[in-house]
Amino acid sequence: MITEVQKQEFYQALLDKDSHYEGVFFVGVQTTGVFCRPTCPARKPKFENCEFYKTAGEALLASFRPCMRCRPLSHPNQVSDLVSTLVDAVEADPSKRWKDSDFEELSVDASTARRQFKKRFGMTFVEYAHARRMGLAFKQIRARDAVIDAQLNTWYESSSGFRDAFSKIIEAAPIKFSQHNKILKASWLDTKLGPMIAIADETGLYLLEFVDRRGLEREVERLRLRIKAAIIPGTTDPIKSIALELESYFEGKLKEFKTPLNLLGSYFQRLVWEELMSIPYGTTRSYMAQATSIGKNKAYRAVANANGANGLAIAMPCHRIINSNGDLGGYGGGITRKKWLLEHEASHV
Ligand SMILES: [Zn+2]
Repeated sequence: MITEVQKQEFYQALLDKDSHYEGVFFVGVQTTGVFCRPTCPARKPKFENCEFYKTAGEALLASFRPCMRCRPLSHPNQVSDLVSTLVDAVEADPSKRWKDSDFEELSVDASTARRQFKKRFGMTFVEYAHARRMGLAFKQIRARDAVIDAQLNTWYESSSGFRDAFSKIIEAAPIKFSQHNKILKASWLDTKLGPMIAIADETGLYLLEFVDRRGLEREVERLRLRIKAAIIPGTTDPIKSIALELESYFEGKLKEFKTPLNLLGSYFQRLVWEELMSIPYGTTRSYMAQATSIGKNKAYRAVANANGANGLAIAMPCHRIINSNGDLGGYGGGITRKKWLLEHEASHV
């Protein structure tokens, strides 16, 4: 996350079009919805309309689109034709899910695209398109639109903004809202390791994931269908609670989460998750040891799958499960985050 002092520094660099800051930060402009590099020739926005990001990926996740004038994705110099073709193709239809056959239509080789994107932006083309899509899907959640419960029905029926963007992007068959539907609320939480989305009702948290997590759209959709819920932007007590707890966790103070969790898995999954919750802060356990301790030592692959399917990152400490040989193993939120979390806990234990 970027401090207030850095924001002031970055804003000054923006006014000065200081090229030393190229690649150091990107600025999202709330009034236009675009993000720029520091040296953008366009008229400079007011400070209060600026949001600063260290990577293009974060700006995309926050629903900004790349500026046409300074082309922030072509840093540092010229961008290859292939990369700009692909960026333009995403902007033509930001909600599209890309398949290999789509690359053929654009006469682009998928593996070349992957390599060039990674080199240029530190993410693959598919990650880029995903970040842009998720940014749009969660735009309203991020904006924390005020929702008045008494007017919920009308709001939900008429709110083209949230329902349409969200449904289109997660390809949900729209659930017709009625008084019988459960309502879940979703909030955007900024953390040291990137933005997260939290979904909860007043009884507990159903989902807590990094916004760029692979498969998040499907996960949200599964949750929505399973409890026949409408998901709208807003907050609940469990969301307020987890936001405070996460802050304290990232400061190295909180060792055990107390926010109530709603676990929706099968009997087997819940068995695995309860075991997971018993692994103390700052320690790790192998998939094999975890399988053995629930009496399922032959089923460690199923145990590993159940770990990955909990939908409650950090609060459910699946990052504490590693391979028997000491390797970190997989992590839904990405291996860099898993490593960070384990080191963070080890240094505050
Ligand atoms: Zn610009």
